[in-house]
Amino acid sequence: MARTPLLAGNWKMHGTRAEARTLAGALAKSVGQTTGREVLIAPPFTALDAAREAIAGTGILLAAQNVHGEDRGAFTGEVSAAMLAEAGCTHVIIGHSERRQYYGETDASVNARLRGALRASLIPIVCVGETLAEREGGQTSAVVSRQIDAVIAALGPAMVRTVVAYEPVWAIGTGRTASPEQAQEVHALLRSRLAAAGAAQVKLLYGGSVKAANAALLFGMPDVDGGLVGGASLDAKEFLAIASA
Ligand code: PEP
Repeated sequence: MARTPLLAGNWKMHGTRAEARTLAGALAKSVGQTTGREVLIAPPFTALDAAREAIAGTGILLAAQNVHGEDRGAFTGEVSAAMLAEAGCTHVIIGHSERRQYYGETDASVNARLRGALRASLIPIVCVGETLAEREGGQTSAVVSRQIDAVIAALGPAMVRTVVAYEPVWAIGTGRTASPEQAQEVHALLRSRLAAAGAAQVKLLYGGSVKAANAALLFGMPDVDGGLVGGASLDAKEFLAIASA
C-alpha cells in the first residue's frame, strides 16, 4: 500500500497568536501548489486556535507538540488528548528529543502519552533518535531499536495508527543533517521492526535540519516518507519549498 508523504512543521516555542495567524495564513494561501502529500503544522498550545482558523478548509493538518497521558485530573500545567482533539488537532508530537532531554521524558512516559493520544483518536508522531555520543559509540541501531521496540510493545496492533519520526539528536537545530544514506539505514531498520509487528505501513519521517536544499535527496530514499521540520517550518516559503521537494 502506498504511503502518502507527510511534511510536518514543529514550531516549538515560537508563535504568538498574531504570528501564528500570519504564518499559517501564508501557508494556507499557497499550500494548494503542493499535491500528493499531507502538510501539517504544530504550533504552541496557545496558538492552536488561531492557526486552526487560518488553515480552515485548506487540508493543512493541525498538531500539538505534547500531550499528557491521562484523560483528566490534578496535573497542573498539562493538557489532555481530548482537549487537543477539541481544539482541532488530528495529530500530536510525542517523545521529541527536546522533551526527553529537558523534561525527563522516558520510554515509559512516552508510552503513557501515546496511549492517551490514541484513546482520543489523535495520531501520535512518536520521535526516536540517537545522541551524538551514541552514534559515535556505534550505538545507533541499539538505541533506536530499544526506543521503537518499547513503543511497539506498549501499543501492540494500535501501532498502525501512529507515525514515527527518526530524529538524530545531533541533527536537530544544529544545521548538521544526516546524509540520505544514514537516514535510510535507520529508516530501513525501523521499517523492519515495524514490519515484524505487522505495522509496515506506518509513515516514517526524517527530522533534523531539513531544508529546501536537502529535502529532495532525503525524501527520495525508499523508507523516508516525509519530514518533521523545526527551524525551517517558521518560514512559509522555505516550508512550502520543502513540502514540494
Ligand atoms: C525538530 O524540532 O523536530 C527538528 C527537526 O528541528 P530542526 O529542523 O530545526 O532541526
